[in-house]
Amino acid sequence: MKFTENAIKVLGKRYLAKDENGNVIETPEEMLRRVARTVADADKRYNKEADIKKTEDKFFDLMASLRFLPNSPTLMNAGRPLGQLSACFVLPIEDSMEGIFDSIKNAALIHKSGGGTGFSFSRLRPKGSTVKTTGGVASGPVSFMKVFNSATEAVKQGGTRRGANMAILRVDHPDILEFIKCKEDDKEITNFNISVALTEKFMEAAIKGEDYELIDPNTKQVKGKLNAKEVFELIVKGAWTNGEPGIVFIDRMNQTNPTPKLGEIESTNPCGEQPLLPYESCNLGSINLAKMVKKVGDKYEIDYDLLERTVFDAVHFLDNVIDVNVYPLPEIERMTKLTRKIGLGVMGFADLLILLQIPYNSEEAVNLADELMKFINYKSKEASRELAKLRGPFPEFHNSIYKEGEPLRNATTTTIAPTGTISIIAGVSSGIEPLFAVAFWRNVMDNDKLAEVNYLFEGIMKERGLYSKELMDKVAEVGTIQHIEGIPDDIKRIFVTAHDITPIYHIRMQAAFQKWTDNAVSKTVNFKKETTIEDVKTVFLLAYRLGCKGVTIYRDGSREGQVINVGDKK
Ligand code: UDP
Repeated sequence: MKFTENAIKVLGKRYLAKDENGNVIETPEEMLRRVARTVADADKRYNKEADIKKTEDKFFDLMASLRFLPNSPTLMNAGRPLGQLSACFVLPIEDSMEGIFDSIKNAALIHKSGGGTGFSFSRLRPKGSTVKTTGGVASGPVSFMKVFNSATEAVKQGGTRRGANMAILRVDHPDILEFIKCKEDDKEITNFNISVALTEKFMEAAIKGEDYELIDPNTKQVKGKLNAKEVFELIVKGAWTNGEPGIVFIDRMNQTNPTPKLGEIESTNPCGEQPLLPYESCNLGSINLAKMVKKVGDKYEIDYDLLERTVFDAVHFLDNVIDVNVYPLPEIERMTKLTRKIGLGVMGFADLLILLQIPYNSEEAVNLADELMKFINYKSKEASRELAKLRGPFPEFHNSIYKEGEPLRNATTTTIAPTGTISIIAGVSSGIEPLFAVAFWRNVMDNDKLAEVNYLFEGIMKERGLYSKELMDKVAEVGTIQHIEGIPDDIKRIFVTAHDITPIYHIRMQAAFQKWTDNAVSKTVNFKKETTIEDVKTVFLLAYRLGCKGVTIYRDGSREGQVINVGDKK
Protein backbone atom coordinates (compact mmCIF):
# COMPACT_ATOMS: atom_id res chain seq x y z
CA MET A 1 0.00 0.00 0.00
CA LYS A 2 1.22 3.45 -0.91
CA PHE A 3 0.90 5.92 1.94
CA THR A 4 2.95 9.10 1.90
CA GLU A 5 5.26 9.93 4.79
CA ASN A 6 2.78 12.56 5.97
CA ALA A 7 -0.06 10.05 5.88
CA ILE A 8 1.87 7.57 7.99
CA LYS A 9 2.69 10.28 10.51
CA VAL A 10 -0.96 11.35 10.83
CA LEU A 11 -2.19 7.74 11.02
CA GLY A 12 0.31 6.87 13.75
CA LYS A 13 -0.62 9.85 15.84
CA ARG A 14 -4.39 9.49 16.02
CA TYR A 15 -5.82 6.70 13.88
CA LEU A 16 -4.00 3.45 14.52
CA ALA A 17 -5.10 1.43 17.56
CA LYS A 18 -2.82 1.78 20.60
CA ASP A 19 -2.36 -0.25 23.77
CA GLU A 20 -2.66 1.21 27.30
CA ASN A 21 0.90 2.49 27.14
CA GLY A 22 0.27 4.38 23.96
CA ASN A 23 2.17 1.99 21.70
CA VAL A 24 0.73 1.56 18.23
CA ILE A 25 -0.56 -1.99 17.84
CA GLU A 26 -1.76 -2.09 14.24
CA THR A 27 -0.44 -1.26 10.79
CA PRO A 28 -2.38 1.03 8.41
CA GLU A 29 -3.36 -2.12 6.51
CA GLU A 30 -4.72 -3.72 9.68
CA MET A 31 -6.62 -0.53 10.43
CA LEU A 32 -8.37 -0.69 7.04
CA ARG A 33 -9.08 -4.40 7.58
CA ARG A 34 -10.65 -3.60 10.96
CA VAL A 35 -12.83 -0.92 9.36
CA ALA A 36 -13.80 -3.10 6.37
CA ARG A 37 -14.71 -6.06 8.58
CA THR A 38 -16.80 -4.00 11.00
CA VAL A 39 -18.70 -2.16 8.28
CA ALA A 40 -19.29 -5.24 6.11
CA ASP A 41 -20.94 -6.98 9.04
CA ALA A 42 -24.13 -4.91 8.56
CA ASP A 43 -24.95 -6.98 5.43
CA LYS A 44 -25.94 -9.84 7.73
CA ARG A 45 -28.91 -7.84 9.04
CA TYR A 46 -30.57 -7.93 5.67
CA ASN A 47 -29.52 -11.32 4.41
CA LYS A 48 -28.46 -14.15 6.69
CA GLU A 49 -26.70 -15.85 3.78
CA ALA A 50 -24.77 -12.72 2.80
CA ASP A 51 -21.14 -13.33 1.86
CA ILE A 52 -19.67 -10.99 4.47
CA LYS A 53 -16.10 -11.87 3.59
CA LYS A 54 -16.69 -10.80 0.01
CA THR A 55 -18.09 -7.45 1.14
CA GLU A 56 -15.21 -7.04 3.57
CA ASP A 57 -12.72 -7.58 0.75
CA LYS A 58 -14.61 -5.15 -1.46
CA PHE A 59 -14.57 -2.46 1.22
CA PHE A 60 -10.93 -3.13 2.04
CA ASP A 61 -9.97 -2.76 -1.60
CA LEU A 62 -12.06 0.41 -1.90
CA MET A 63 -10.03 2.03 0.89
CA ALA A 64 -6.63 0.39 0.39
CA SER A 65 -6.56 1.52 -3.24
CA LEU A 66 -7.26 5.01 -1.84
CA ARG A 67 -10.26 5.33 -4.17
CA PHE A 68 -12.48 6.17 -1.21
CA LEU A 69 -12.09 6.96 2.49
CA PRO A 70 -14.78 7.42 5.13
CA ASN A 71 -14.66 10.34 7.58
CA SER A 72 -12.09 10.18 10.37
CA PRO A 73 -14.29 8.83 13.19
CA THR A 74 -15.04 5.73 11.09
CA LEU A 75 -11.35 5.06 10.55
CA MET A 76 -10.54 5.69 14.19
CA ASN A 77 -13.42 3.97 15.92
CA ALA A 78 -14.82 1.13 13.78
CA GLY A 79 -14.26 -2.17 15.55
CA ARG A 80 -12.86 -0.40 18.58
CA PRO A 81 -14.45 0.24 22.00
CA LEU A 82 -15.94 3.68 21.19
CA GLY A 83 -17.56 2.50 17.97
CA GLN A 84 -18.85 6.01 17.10
CA LEU A 85 -18.45 6.51 13.37
CA SER A 86 -20.01 9.86 12.40
CA ALA A 87 -18.35 13.23 11.89
CA CYS A 88 -21.44 15.40 12.03
CA PHE A 89 -24.16 16.10 14.58
CA VAL A 90 -26.70 18.81 15.21
CA LEU A 91 -28.18 19.25 18.67
CA PRO A 92 -31.16 21.38 19.65
CA ILE A 93 -30.94 24.00 22.41
CA GLU A 94 -34.22 24.52 24.18
CA ASP A 95 -34.93 27.84 25.86
CA SER A 96 -34.57 26.58 29.43
CA MET A 97 -31.75 25.90 31.89
CA GLU A 98 -32.40 22.15 31.64
CA GLY A 99 -32.41 22.35 27.86
CA ILE A 100 -29.19 24.35 27.66
CA PHE A 101 -27.24 22.13 30.02
CA ASP A 102 -28.61 18.90 28.51
CA SER A 103 -27.25 20.12 25.24
CA ILE A 104 -23.82 20.86 26.75
CA LYS A 105 -23.68 17.38 28.21
CA ASN A 106 -24.73 15.78 24.92
CA ALA A 107 -22.12 17.78 23.04
CA ALA A 108 -19.45 16.59 25.47
CA LEU A 109 -20.40 12.96 24.80
CA ILE A 110 -20.18 13.56 21.05
CA HIS A 111 -16.83 15.36 21.26
CA LYS A 112 -15.37 12.55 23.31
CA SER A 113 -16.09 10.22 20.41
CA GLY A 114 -14.54 12.43 17.71
CA GLY A 115 -17.71 13.98 16.31
CA GLY A 116 -18.39 17.67 15.71
CA THR A 117 -21.55 19.46 16.80
CA GLY A 118 -23.64 22.22 15.31
CA PHE A 119 -26.21 24.22 17.27
CA SER A 120 -28.73 26.88 16.57
CA PHE A 121 -28.90 29.35 19.45
CA SER A 122 -31.94 30.96 17.85
CA ARG A 123 -34.52 29.52 20.25
CA LEU A 124 -32.90 31.19 23.29
CA ARG A 125 -34.64 34.28 24.57
CA PRO A 126 -32.67 37.50 24.08
CA LYS A 127 -30.38 39.08 26.61
CA GLY A 128 -32.25 41.07 29.24
CA SER A 129 -35.61 39.33 28.93
CA THR A 130 -37.20 38.09 32.10
CA VAL A 131 -36.85 34.64 33.58
CA LYS A 132 -40.26 33.80 35.04
CA THR A 133 -39.28 31.33 37.75
CA THR A 134 -36.57 33.49 39.28
CA GLY A 135 -37.62 36.98 38.29
CA GLY A 136 -34.06 37.47 37.02
CA VAL A 137 -32.88 38.46 33.55
CA ALA A 138 -31.77 36.10 30.78
CA SER A 139 -28.15 36.36 29.69
CA GLY A 140 -28.78 35.62 26.00
CA PRO A 141 -27.28 33.31 23.33
CA VAL A 142 -23.74 34.74 23.25
CA SER A 143 -23.15 34.32 26.98
CA PHE A 144 -24.27 30.69 26.76
CA MET A 145 -21.99 30.11 23.78
CA LYS A 146 -19.12 30.84 26.15
CA VAL A 147 -20.28 28.06 28.46
CA PHE A 148 -20.43 25.62 25.54
CA ASN A 149 -16.98 26.80 24.54
CA SER A 150 -15.47 26.11 27.96
CA ALA A 151 -17.03 22.65 28.11
CA THR A 152 -15.52 21.86 24.71
CA GLU A 153 -12.14 23.15 25.84
CA ALA A 154 -12.21 20.80 28.82
CA VAL A 155 -13.15 17.70 26.82
CA LYS A 156 -10.72 18.11 23.90
CA GLN A 157 -12.24 15.00 22.36
CA GLY A 158 -10.57 12.48 24.65
CA GLY A 159 -7.35 12.27 22.66
CA THR A 160 -8.94 11.67 19.26
CA ARG A 161 -9.45 15.18 17.96
CA ARG A 162 -10.36 18.63 19.17
CA GLY A 163 -14.02 19.46 19.62
CA ALA A 164 -15.39 21.47 16.74
CA ASN A 165 -18.64 23.42 17.03
CA MET A 166 -20.86 25.53 14.86
CA ALA A 167 -23.05 28.23 16.36
CA ILE A 168 -25.84 29.61 14.24
CA LEU A 169 -28.11 32.52 15.03
CA ARG A 170 -30.99 33.69 12.90
CA VAL A 171 -30.54 37.19 11.54
CA ASP A 172 -33.94 38.17 13.01
CA HIS A 173 -32.91 37.26 16.57
CA PRO A 174 -32.79 40.41 18.76
CA ASP A 175 -29.19 39.62 19.86
CA ILE A 176 -27.90 39.42 16.29
CA LEU A 177 -25.54 42.42 16.54
CA GLU A 178 -23.81 41.00 19.60
CA PHE A 179 -23.53 37.64 17.82
CA ILE A 180 -21.99 39.12 14.67
CA LYS A 181 -19.28 40.75 16.79
CA CYS A 182 -18.74 37.95 19.29
CA LYS A 183 -15.59 36.66 17.58
CA GLU A 184 -14.00 40.05 17.06
CA ASP A 185 -11.76 39.32 20.01
CA ASP A 186 -10.81 35.88 18.79
CA LYS A 187 -9.60 34.59 22.14
CA GLU A 188 -12.93 33.93 23.76
CA ILE A 189 -15.00 31.59 21.62
CA THR A 190 -12.18 29.58 20.12
CA ASN A 191 -13.96 26.24 19.71
CA PHE A 192 -16.75 27.61 17.52
CA ASN A 193 -17.24 28.59 13.94
CA ILE A 194 -20.10 31.04 13.78
CA SER A 195 -22.58 31.65 10.99
CA VAL A 196 -25.54 33.96 10.62
CA ALA A 197 -28.68 32.28 9.28
CA LEU A 198 -29.95 34.64 6.57
CA THR A 199 -33.60 34.37 5.55
CA GLU A 200 -34.99 35.14 2.09
CA LYS A 201 -36.92 38.02 3.59
CA PHE A 202 -33.70 39.46 4.98
CA MET A 203 -31.82 39.07 1.70
CA GLU A 204 -34.55 40.85 -0.22
CA ALA A 205 -34.56 43.68 2.33
CA ALA A 206 -30.75 43.89 2.22
CA ILE A 207 -30.73 44.17 -1.56
CA LYS A 208 -33.43 46.87 -1.46
CA GLY A 209 -31.89 48.66 1.53
CA GLU A 210 -35.01 48.23 3.66
CA ASP A 211 -35.57 47.56 7.35
CA TYR A 212 -36.47 44.16 8.75
CA GLU A 213 -37.99 43.04 12.04
CA LEU A 214 -36.29 41.41 15.03
CA ILE A 215 -38.41 38.79 16.72
CA ASP A 216 -38.18 37.41 20.25
CA PRO A 217 -38.24 33.62 19.75
CA ASN A 218 -39.83 33.13 23.15
CA THR A 219 -42.75 35.58 22.96
CA LYS A 220 -42.84 35.83 19.13
CA GLN A 221 -43.16 39.58 19.57
CA VAL A 222 -41.45 42.12 17.35
CA LYS A 223 -38.57 43.53 19.37
CA GLY A 224 -37.36 46.20 17.02
CA LYS A 225 -36.12 46.86 13.52
CA LEU A 226 -32.76 47.06 11.84
CA ASN A 227 -31.67 48.15 8.42
CA ALA A 228 -30.94 44.93 6.51
CA LYS A 229 -28.28 46.49 4.30
CA GLU A 230 -26.39 47.80 7.32
CA VAL A 231 -26.54 44.42 9.08
CA PHE A 232 -25.40 42.69 5.89
CA GLU A 233 -22.45 45.07 5.71
CA LEU A 234 -21.54 44.39 9.33
CA ILE A 235 -21.46 40.66 8.58
CA VAL A 236 -19.29 41.30 5.52
CA LYS A 237 -16.94 43.47 7.56
CA GLY A 238 -16.60 40.76 10.20
CA ALA A 239 -15.82 38.16 7.55
CA TRP A 240 -13.28 40.51 5.98
CA THR A 241 -11.66 41.16 9.38
CA ASN A 242 -11.08 37.57 10.48
CA GLY A 243 -13.26 35.20 8.46
CA GLU A 244 -16.17 35.27 10.94
CA PRO A 245 -19.10 35.17 10.82
CA GLY A 246 -19.85 32.98 7.84
CA ILE A 247 -23.34 32.94 6.40
CA VAL A 248 -25.88 30.22 5.65
CA PHE A 249 -29.02 30.69 3.61
CA ILE A 250 -31.36 28.98 6.03
CA ASP A 251 -34.57 29.14 3.95
CA ARG A 252 -32.74 27.61 1.01
CA MET A 253 -31.57 24.79 3.27
CA ASN A 254 -35.17 24.18 4.26
CA GLN A 255 -36.41 24.32 0.67
CA THR A 256 -34.27 21.23 0.03
CA ASN A 257 -35.04 19.61 3.39
CA PRO A 258 -36.06 16.09 2.30
CA THR A 259 -38.21 15.47 5.39
CA PRO A 260 -39.94 18.76 6.30
CA LYS A 261 -42.62 16.91 8.28
CA LEU A 262 -39.98 15.54 10.62
CA GLY A 263 -38.61 18.95 11.49
CA GLU A 264 -37.00 22.18 10.41
CA ILE A 265 -33.31 22.61 9.66
CA GLU A 266 -31.84 25.16 12.06
CA SER A 267 -28.15 24.41 11.86
CA THR A 268 -25.31 22.68 10.06
CA ASN A 269 -22.35 20.70 11.37
CA PRO A 270 -19.13 22.62 12.28
CA CYS A 271 -17.72 23.11 8.80
CA GLY A 272 -21.08 23.97 7.22
CA GLU A 273 -21.38 21.19 4.66
CA GLN A 274 -24.07 19.20 6.44
CA PRO A 275 -27.42 20.77 7.34
CA LEU A 276 -29.21 18.43 9.76
CA LEU A 277 -32.39 18.26 11.82
CA PRO A 278 -32.00 18.47 15.60
CA TYR A 279 -30.50 15.17 16.87
CA GLU A 280 -29.58 13.92 13.42
CA SER A 281 -26.08 12.68 12.68
CA CYS A 282 -24.45 11.95 9.37
CA ASN A 283 -21.47 9.94 8.25
CA LEU A 284 -19.44 11.22 5.35
CA GLY A 285 -17.07 9.61 2.88
CA SER A 286 -15.14 10.92 -0.07
CA ILE A 287 -14.13 9.56 -3.45
CA ASN A 288 -10.55 10.33 -4.40
CA LEU A 289 -10.91 11.84 -7.87
CA ALA A 290 -7.17 11.66 -8.53
CA LYS A 291 -7.67 7.88 -8.80
CA MET A 292 -10.64 8.11 -11.16
CA VAL A 293 -8.55 8.45 -14.31
CA LYS A 294 -7.21 6.22 -17.04
CA LYS A 295 -4.43 6.86 -19.50
CA VAL A 296 -5.46 7.03 -23.13
CA GLY A 297 -2.37 7.50 -25.30
CA ASP A 298 -0.25 9.95 -23.36
CA LYS A 299 -3.21 11.76 -21.82
CA TYR A 300 -5.45 11.15 -18.81
CA GLU A 301 -9.21 10.86 -19.06
CA ILE A 302 -11.87 10.37 -16.41
CA ASP A 303 -12.66 6.68 -15.98
CA TYR A 304 -16.44 6.88 -15.63
CA ASP A 305 -16.85 3.09 -15.31
CA LEU A 306 -14.51 3.04 -12.35
CA LEU A 307 -16.21 6.10 -10.89
CA GLU A 308 -19.63 4.44 -11.16
CA ARG A 309 -18.43 1.29 -9.42
CA THR A 310 -16.78 3.36 -6.73
CA VAL A 311 -19.97 5.35 -6.12
CA PHE A 312 -22.00 2.14 -5.74
CA ASP A 313 -19.52 0.58 -3.33
CA ALA A 314 -19.21 3.82 -1.34
CA VAL A 315 -23.00 4.14 -0.94
CA HIS A 316 -23.17 0.52 0.21
CA PHE A 317 -20.37 1.24 2.68
CA LEU A 318 -21.94 4.43 4.08
CA ASP A 319 -25.39 2.85 4.42
CA ASN A 320 -23.81 0.00 6.40
CA VAL A 321 -22.08 2.50 8.69
CA ILE A 322 -25.50 3.70 9.89
CA ASP A 323 -26.26 0.19 11.16
CA VAL A 324 -22.98 -0.67 12.86
CA ASN A 325 -22.53 2.79 14.36
CA VAL A 326 -22.60 3.10 18.16
CA TYR A 327 -24.61 6.27 18.83
CA PRO A 328 -23.81 8.61 21.70
CA LEU A 329 -27.53 9.08 22.57
CA PRO A 330 -30.71 7.05 21.93
CA GLU A 331 -32.42 10.12 20.43
CA ILE A 332 -29.60 10.52 17.90
CA GLU A 333 -29.88 6.87 16.93
CA ARG A 334 -33.63 7.22 16.46
CA MET A 335 -33.44 10.35 14.31
CA THR A 336 -30.48 9.16 12.25
CA LYS A 337 -32.16 5.88 11.43
CA LEU A 338 -35.40 7.61 10.39
CA THR A 339 -33.72 9.46 7.52
CA ARG A 340 -30.53 7.43 7.02
CA LYS A 341 -28.69 10.43 5.54
CA ILE A 342 -25.27 9.78 4.09
CA GLY A 343 -22.83 12.28 2.62
CA LEU A 344 -20.75 11.02 -0.26
CA GLY A 345 -18.38 13.62 -1.65
CA VAL A 346 -15.04 14.00 -3.36
CA MET A 347 -11.44 14.91 -2.68
CA GLY A 348 -8.51 15.41 -5.02
CA PHE A 349 -10.53 17.55 -7.44
CA ALA A 350 -7.63 19.98 -7.98
CA ASP A 351 -5.31 17.03 -8.62
CA LEU A 352 -7.75 15.64 -11.16
CA LEU A 353 -7.78 18.95 -13.01
CA ILE A 354 -3.99 18.96 -13.12
CA LEU A 355 -3.94 15.41 -14.49
CA LEU A 356 -6.43 16.49 -17.16
CA GLN A 357 -4.37 19.66 -17.76
CA ILE A 358 -7.33 21.93 -17.07
CA PRO A 359 -6.73 25.15 -15.11
CA TYR A 360 -8.98 25.43 -12.02
CA ASN A 361 -9.89 28.99 -12.99
CA SER A 362 -11.41 28.19 -16.37
CA GLU A 363 -14.86 27.68 -17.91
CA GLU A 364 -13.79 24.16 -18.73
CA ALA A 365 -13.13 23.37 -15.07
CA VAL A 366 -16.49 24.76 -13.93
CA ASN A 367 -18.25 22.72 -16.63
CA LEU A 368 -16.36 19.62 -15.64
CA ALA A 369 -17.36 20.11 -11.99
CA ASP A 370 -20.98 20.32 -13.07
CA GLU A 371 -20.80 17.20 -15.22
CA LEU A 372 -18.82 15.18 -12.70
CA MET A 373 -21.00 15.94 -9.69
CA LYS A 374 -24.15 15.39 -11.71
CA PHE A 375 -22.86 11.91 -12.53
CA ILE A 376 -21.91 11.15 -8.94
CA ASN A 377 -25.23 12.42 -7.60
CA TYR A 378 -27.29 10.39 -10.11
CA LYS A 379 -25.28 7.25 -9.54
CA SER A 380 -25.51 7.65 -5.77
CA LYS A 381 -29.31 7.83 -6.07
CA GLU A 382 -29.30 4.72 -8.26
CA ALA A 383 -27.20 2.93 -5.67
CA SER A 384 -29.51 4.07 -2.88
CA ARG A 385 -32.56 2.84 -4.84
CA GLU A 386 -30.95 -0.52 -5.33
CA LEU A 387 -30.30 -0.79 -1.63
CA ALA A 388 -33.91 0.20 -0.93
CA LYS A 389 -35.09 -2.78 -2.99
CA LEU A 390 -33.17 -5.14 -0.73
CA ARG A 391 -33.35 -3.29 2.58
CA GLY A 392 -36.43 -1.09 2.35
CA PRO A 393 -36.58 2.71 2.03
CA PHE A 394 -35.58 5.03 4.88
CA PRO A 395 -38.44 4.91 7.40
CA GLU A 396 -39.53 8.52 6.78
CA PHE A 397 -39.61 7.99 3.00
CA HIS A 398 -43.40 8.07 2.82
CA ASN A 399 -43.42 11.46 4.52
CA SER A 400 -40.58 12.83 2.42
CA ILE A 401 -40.35 15.01 -0.67
CA TYR A 402 -39.39 11.85 -2.59
CA LYS A 403 -42.56 9.91 -1.74
CA GLU A 404 -43.99 9.98 -5.28
CA GLY A 405 -40.87 8.44 -6.78
CA GLU A 406 -39.04 5.14 -6.50
CA PRO A 407 -38.06 4.29 -2.91
CA LEU A 408 -34.68 5.52 -1.69
CA ARG A 409 -32.64 4.05 1.10
CA ASN A 410 -31.20 7.42 2.14
CA ALA A 411 -32.85 10.83 2.49
CA THR A 412 -29.65 12.45 1.21
CA THR A 413 -26.68 10.88 -0.52
CA THR A 414 -24.22 13.68 -1.31
CA THR A 415 -22.17 16.20 0.68
CA ILE A 416 -18.85 17.86 -0.15
CA ALA A 417 -16.77 17.58 3.03
CA PRO A 418 -13.56 19.51 3.70
CA THR A 419 -11.61 16.21 3.94
CA GLY A 420 -9.04 18.01 6.08
CA THR A 421 -7.38 14.86 7.39
CA ILE A 422 -8.51 12.11 5.08
CA SER A 423 -7.06 14.01 2.11
CA ILE A 424 -3.67 13.92 3.89
CA ILE A 425 -4.11 10.17 4.37
CA ALA A 426 -4.95 9.80 0.67
CA GLY A 427 -2.12 12.19 -0.25
CA VAL A 428 -4.25 14.42 -2.47
CA SER A 429 -5.71 17.93 -2.59
CA SER A 430 -8.55 18.47 -0.14
CA GLY A 431 -12.22 18.40 -1.13
CA ILE A 432 -12.91 20.61 -4.13
CA GLU A 433 -10.33 23.21 -3.10
CA PRO A 434 -7.63 24.37 -5.48
CA LEU A 435 -4.05 23.73 -4.37
CA PHE A 436 -3.33 26.06 -1.51
CA ALA A 437 0.29 26.28 -2.55
CA VAL A 438 2.55 24.36 -4.91
CA ALA A 439 4.94 23.92 -1.98
CA PHE A 440 4.33 24.87 1.66
CA TRP A 441 4.76 24.08 5.32
CA ARG A 442 1.70 22.58 6.93
CA ASN A 443 0.83 22.78 10.64
CA VAL A 444 -1.09 19.67 11.60
CA MET A 445 -2.64 18.75 14.90
CA ASP A 446 -1.09 20.53 17.88
CA ASN A 447 1.58 22.49 16.02
CA ASP A 448 3.39 19.66 14.26
CA LYS A 449 4.77 20.81 10.91
CA LEU A 450 4.78 18.78 7.71
CA ALA A 451 6.65 19.97 4.63
CA GLU A 452 4.96 19.39 1.33
CA VAL A 453 5.93 19.90 -2.32
CA ASN A 454 2.96 18.99 -4.48
CA TYR A 455 3.60 15.49 -5.83
CA LEU A 456 2.26 16.24 -9.29
CA PHE A 457 4.46 19.31 -9.58
CA GLU A 458 7.51 17.40 -8.44
CA GLY A 459 6.67 14.68 -10.95
CA ILE A 460 6.28 16.96 -13.94
CA MET A 461 9.38 19.02 -13.08
CA LYS A 462 11.49 15.88 -12.80
CA GLU A 463 10.07 14.50 -16.03
CA ARG A 464 11.12 17.66 -17.84
CA GLY A 465 14.53 17.75 -16.17
CA LEU A 466 13.70 21.06 -14.47
CA TYR A 467 13.64 19.89 -10.85
CA SER A 468 16.09 21.27 -8.33
CA LYS A 469 15.99 21.67 -4.57
CA GLU A 470 16.79 25.38 -4.87
CA LEU A 471 13.83 25.92 -7.15
CA MET A 472 11.51 24.02 -4.80
CA ASP A 473 12.72 26.13 -1.86
CA LYS A 474 11.98 29.24 -3.88
CA VAL A 475 8.47 27.98 -4.54
CA ALA A 476 7.93 27.11 -0.86
CA GLU A 477 8.80 30.69 0.08
CA VAL A 478 5.87 32.13 -1.86
CA GLY A 479 3.61 29.16 -2.55
CA THR A 480 2.75 30.22 -6.07
CA ILE A 481 4.82 29.54 -9.20
CA GLN A 482 3.25 32.29 -11.28
CA HIS A 483 6.17 34.72 -10.94
CA ILE A 484 9.07 32.29 -10.76
CA GLU A 485 11.54 32.13 -13.60
CA GLY A 486 12.50 28.81 -15.13
CA ILE A 487 9.05 27.27 -15.07
CA PRO A 488 7.35 26.89 -18.47
CA ASP A 489 4.01 28.62 -19.10
CA ASP A 490 2.06 25.42 -19.72
CA ILE A 491 2.97 24.28 -16.19
CA LYS A 492 2.14 27.68 -14.71
CA ARG A 493 -1.25 27.51 -16.38
CA ILE A 494 -2.39 24.32 -14.64
CA PHE A 495 -0.64 24.70 -11.28
CA VAL A 496 -2.74 27.61 -10.07
CA THR A 497 -3.14 28.11 -6.34
CA ALA A 498 -6.00 29.44 -4.20
CA HIS A 499 -4.55 32.96 -4.34
CA ASP A 500 -3.93 32.90 -8.09
CA ILE A 501 -7.65 32.30 -8.54
CA THR A 502 -10.14 35.14 -8.26
CA PRO A 503 -12.80 34.80 -5.53
CA ILE A 504 -15.40 34.79 -8.30
CA TYR A 505 -14.02 31.48 -9.61
CA HIS A 506 -13.98 30.04 -6.09
CA ILE A 507 -17.69 30.76 -5.77
CA ARG A 508 -18.54 29.61 -9.28
CA MET A 509 -16.87 26.29 -8.51
CA GLN A 510 -18.74 25.97 -5.23
CA ALA A 511 -22.01 26.71 -7.03
CA ALA A 512 -21.29 24.13 -9.75
CA PHE A 513 -20.83 21.43 -7.10
CA GLN A 514 -23.79 22.65 -5.04
CA LYS A 515 -26.11 22.28 -8.01
CA TRP A 516 -25.72 18.49 -7.76
CA THR A 517 -25.20 18.05 -4.03
CA ASP A 518 -28.11 17.19 -1.71
CA ASN A 519 -26.50 18.64 1.37
CA ALA A 520 -24.01 21.49 1.22
CA VAL A 521 -20.49 22.13 -0.01
CA SER A 522 -17.48 22.89 2.13
CA LYS A 523 -15.47 25.60 0.40
CA THR A 524 -13.31 28.42 1.60
CA VAL A 525 -13.12 31.43 -0.66
CA ASN A 526 -9.58 32.72 -0.30
CA PHE A 527 -8.94 36.42 -0.55
CA LYS A 528 -5.66 38.28 -0.73
CA LYS A 529 -4.65 40.39 2.24
CA GLU A 530 -5.23 43.64 0.35
CA THR A 531 -8.81 42.73 -0.63
CA THR A 532 -11.44 45.40 0.07
CA ILE A 533 -14.62 44.93 2.09
CA GLU A 534 -16.56 45.68 -1.08
CA ASP A 535 -14.93 42.67 -2.84
CA VAL A 536 -16.13 40.40 -0.06
CA LYS A 537 -19.64 41.81 -0.33
CA THR A 538 -19.71 41.13 -4.07
CA VAL A 539 -18.80 37.51 -3.46
CA PHE A 540 -21.46 37.05 -0.77
CA LEU A 541 -24.11 38.41 -3.14
CA LEU A 542 -22.84 36.27 -6.00
CA ALA A 543 -23.04 33.15 -3.81
CA TYR A 544 -26.66 34.06 -3.06
CA ARG A 545 -27.44 34.54 -6.75
CA LEU A 546 -25.74 31.31 -7.83
CA GLY A 547 -27.66 29.09 -5.41
CA CYS A 548 -24.97 28.33 -2.83
CA LYS A 549 -26.19 27.29 0.62
CA GLY A 550 -23.60 29.29 2.52
CA VAL A 551 -20.27 31.08 2.29
CA THR A 552 -17.04 30.83 4.24
CA ILE A 553 -14.26 33.19 3.39
CA TYR A 554 -10.73 33.71 4.56
CA ARG A 555 -8.53 36.72 3.92
CA ASP A 556 -4.85 35.86 4.04
CA GLY A 557 -3.09 36.81 7.24
CA SER A 558 -6.30 37.85 9.00
CA ARG A 559 -6.10 35.27 11.76
CA GLU A 560 -3.28 34.08 13.98
CA GLY A 561 -2.20 30.43 13.86
CA GLN A 562 -3.80 29.73 10.51
CA VAL A 563 -3.54 26.08 9.52
CA ILE A 564 -1.52 26.53 6.36
CA ASN A 565 0.96 29.34 5.88
CA VAL A 566 2.23 30.15 2.44
CA GLY A 567 5.84 31.14 2.59
CA ASP A 568 6.41 30.12 6.21
CA LYS A 569 10.10 29.62 6.79
CA LYS A 570 11.36 26.41 8.35
N1 UDP B 1 -14.72 17.58 12.47
C1 UDP B 1 -14.57 17.69 13.85
N2 UDP B 1 -13.34 17.99 14.37
C2 UDP B 1 -12.25 18.16 13.59
C3 UDP B 1 -12.39 18.06 12.19
C4 UDP B 1 -13.64 17.76 11.67
O1 UDP B 1 -15.53 17.55 14.59
O2 UDP B 1 -11.14 18.42 14.14
C5 UDP B 1 -16.06 17.25 11.88
C6 UDP B 1 -16.86 18.46 11.45
O3 UDP B 1 -18.23 18.19 11.61
C7 UDP B 1 -16.54 18.57 9.98
C8 UDP B 1 -16.51 17.11 9.60
O4 UDP B 1 -15.90 16.48 10.72
O5 UDP B 1 -17.49 19.32 9.33
C9 UDP B 1 -15.76 16.76 8.36
O6 UDP B 1 -14.46 17.34 8.39
P1 UDP B 1 -13.30 16.76 7.48
O7 UDP B 1 -13.86 16.35 6.18
O8 UDP B 1 -12.19 17.76 7.48
O9 UDP B 1 -12.85 15.48 8.33
P2 UDP B 1 -11.87 14.25 8.00
O10 UDP B 1 -12.75 13.07 7.77
O11 UDP B 1 -10.98 14.58 6.86
O12 UDP B 1 -11.09 14.08 9.27
